[in-house]
Amino acid sequence: MAYPPAVTRLIDAFKTLPGVGTRTAERLTFHLLRAPAKEVSELADALVALSSSVVACERCHNLAHSNPCAICSDEARDGRRLLVVEQPRDVPAFEDAGWTGRYHVLLGHVNPLEGIEARDLTIDDLVARVEEGGVEEVVLATNPDYEGDATALHVRKRLADLDVAVSRIARGVASGSAIEYSNSAMLSDALSGRSRMDDRS
Ligand SMILES: [Zn+2]
Repeated sequence: MAYPPAVTRLIDAFKTLPGVGTRTAERLTFHLLRAPAKEVSELADALVALSSSVVACERCHNLAHSNPCAICSDEARDGRRLLVVEQPRDVPAFEDAGWTGRYHVLLGHVNPLEGIEARDLTIDDLVARVEEGGVEEVVLATNPDYEGDATALHVRKRLADLDVAVSRIARGVASGSAIEYSNSAMLSDALSGRSRMDDRS
């Protein structure tokens, strides 16, 4: 028996999300069919609000309410220092840790197994920002795991010919753990213990 069109429509919509297959899409849809109307309309409102009020900053690629974002347009921030992170969710973690420079969000990490290559990230834009001048230090704060390290090395190579210091945050963040789950004291230590990455590799 075919589902009613509205059910099929929602299942198909869920299946466009990363990691959601038919079974999960069906489970979510059937959950919503039984959920209180208030819960369902809150979800619908949240989806509409997401696309109407959140934009990606063209400079740093962070999620924001304006473009350029509040951090990129804040003249009080130290524009000489760029902190490079994998995901927008890492930015609040470093804000809590007291970072006063600006950011560059890569929107992922290099992962050949998942088919994510360096060209899928925002590395070209990072290089362009450094080439524009005014940036003295790029601090690589990708996650301390295999993909994060590989991504940091790649970015380091891309910046090798430019007149900018490149450093990597210290391993205050436990190896293998994610930035987003680290507390602000750990990230603050990792920032202040950052060290220069040489460009021999
Ligand atoms: Zn920005």
